[in-house]
Parts: sequence; C-alpha cells; structure tokens
Amino acid sequence: MADEIKVGAKVEPLRKSRPCAECGRPSVREHYPFCSDRCRSLDLSRWLNGSYAIPVAEDESKASDEE
Ligand SMILES: [Zn+2]
Repeated sequence: MADEIKVGAKVEPLRKSRPCAECGRPSVREHYPFCSDRCRSLDLSRWLNGSYAIPVAEDESKASDEE
C-alpha cells in the first residue's frame, strides 16, 4: 500500500483549447476534442458510416437514454 503512486501529482501542460470538431463550440477536456459526448458520438458514427457502410437504422432513443 505504501508504494501506491499518487495520480493527483500528474500535471498536464496547458494547451490551447480547440473548437469542437463537430459543432465548433469550445471543447471540454472531458470530451476532447469535442464539446460533449453527443458531438463525439456524432463524429464517431459518421466516421463509422463512412468507413464501414453501417445501416443508419439504429435506435437512437435507446442509446441516448443517459444523455
Ligand atoms: Zn460540439
């Protein structure tokens, strides 16, 4: 237990915040480089659709249950 590393000591260098790759709003660190989980999902789904031709018949109401 004494050898446990302190994670809180980790310091990230300040970076210039980039606009959300999806909607252009300021991105947040939690969802970087997007402003929200929604935008990240949108970008991801678009990327997947472009790469794998997945049918766009997904149940979005079910997926966004937690918001
Ligand atoms: Zn966004």
